[in-house]
Amino acid sequence: MTISNQQLFERSQQYIPGGVNSPVRAFKSVGGTPIFFERGQGAYFWDVEGQTYIDYVGSWGPLILGHAHPAVVGKVQEAASLGMSFGAPTRAELEIAELLCQLLPSLEQVRLVSSGTEAGMSAIRLARGYTGRSRIIKFEGCYHGHDDALLVKAGSGALTFGHPSSAGVPAETAGHTMVLDYNDVAGAKQAFSEHGSEIAAVIVEPIAGNMNLVRAEPAFLETLRALCTQHGSLLILDEVMTGFRVGLECAQGLYQIKPDLTILGKVIGGGMPLAAFGGRRDVMQCLAPLGPVYQAGTLSGNPVAVAAGLETLRQIQAPGFFDKLSAQTRQLTDGLTAAAKKNGVTFSAQAVGGMFGLYFRQEPPKSFAEVMDSDREAFNRFFHAMLKAGVYFAPSAFEAGFVSAAHSDADIAKTVAAAEHIFSQGI
Ligand SMILES: *Cc1c(COP(=O)(O)O)cnc(C)c1O
Repeated sequence: MTISNQQLFERSQQYIPGGVNSPVRAFKSVGGTPIFFERGQGAYFWDVEGQTYIDYVGSWGPLILGHAHPAVVGKVQEAASLGMSFGAPTRAELEIAELLCQLLPSLEQVRLVSSGTEAGMSAIRLARGYTGRSRIIKFEGCYHGHDDALLVKAGSGALTFGHPSSAGVPAETAGHTMVLDYNDVAGAKQAFSEHGSEIAAVIVEPIAGNMNLVRAEPAFLETLRALCTQHGSLLILDEVMTGFRVGLECAQGLYQIKPDLTILGKVIGGGMPLAAFGGRRDVMQCLAPLGPVYQAGTLSGNPVAVAAGLETLRQIQAPGFFDKLSAQTRQLTDGLTAAAKKNGVTFSAQAVGGMFGLYFRQEPPKSFAEVMDSDREAFNRFFHAMLKAGVYFAPSAFEAGFVSAAHSDADIAKTVAAAEHIFSQGI
């Protein structure tokens, strides 16, 4: 007898808060019971009830090659058999650091960590240590991991410092973080004109993927770059999601913006816990053991994780990899848009590389306020109807989606056909 998702969820709730190890997995915003995954292969996964799904979440971004890619699995097995962790330098760490610096010209040095959260937190500490300043700027709707300084929401006035967006974050900590509107050039200029000399860093997702997908306007990122340079603040691009997902040159290459620091995660670990922060050599050399900014990790640069990351980065450098991935992703968003239009459903979609946004509104949003202005109920109905049809989208209207290199034309066509049927029934 197979066990059901419902049974596992009930038992999990006894031993794990909310039954999950990361909140969005709980299906709270869409309702219903989370799916318990049992096995994944390529674009597909199977749940504990034996149902098959086409996966557009890909572990929230890392699985750009799909589930259980044979070459990645092989390298992981090989590395594991040679020792799971040493807590001492290995050659593979050097290789991935070299490769990251080659692929991203803004990186002169990198340090490996185990999660995007750690990368963001460390980059902020480094920026503060380097500049000797405390204040940072972030943008509403951007997510940079769950470090205290970054779990901050906008204050009431545009130019007030932020309030904690989680219990347990001291007001004094949140008070050093200024929260501005995404794509608001004037707001950024005003913040710098009032507080420029106190701002250690601006941290921004160059393409926001944690409030659904919102593209930065080129002028927005250019303004941030210019303001940081002018005021001696550091520009930190959070490419944990966009890095090696929107293209081999990452979002900074697409926008031609050179940050002082970049944070990476997700794809660079190929499904294993691996992330990194890096950038200007003079800044990175403030880190211990060279400099006064402390940062460390027992499992940092873990050999098994690095093996998965190196092989993933090797695969995505194949000629035409991103052209094909972008075309597949566009096929999905164009197909869904056409299906909605045909059936009079208010809907829009867009793709950047292997990342996409679906919106139950007329146009892709440009700000957090516009994201909030979409029809969330329609998304929730769509999500559940697609799930029933064997298609797994992120269980929230505020997440970007991902296509992997394992998604075939037939998978995309099947997805579009399922959506068209749902739209024709009236969503
Ligand atoms: C996922 C994500 C993070 C956090 O990474 P974790 O590995 O989940 O800690 C930070 N920034 C962005 C843009 C992300 O998408």
